[in-house]
Amino acid sequence: MAYKKHWGMHNLGYQYDNSTKNICGCVDSQKNPKKLYMSETGAKNAAEFSRLQNSVSLEIYECPRTKGWHLKKV
Ligand SMILES: [Zn+2]
Repeated sequence: MAYKKHWGMHNLGYQYDNSTKNICGCVDSQKNPKKLYMSETGAKNAAEFSRLQNSVSLEIYECPRTKGWHLKKV
């Protein structure tokens, strides 16, 4: 079985993405389900990745409905 490792920014983003499915039901301004990050660190890392990769500044905030964190555009 061939297993190919992918390194680089894409892989970095994957590692940082410790989000879960949209279990809390929160949506963004376009009514898309928001990712729920299980740890503040994970959310911070995802925000940092977005800033580096997409030049999009995001801030993190605690989910008002359950334990976890979301990202929103600043
Ligand atoms: Zn939420």
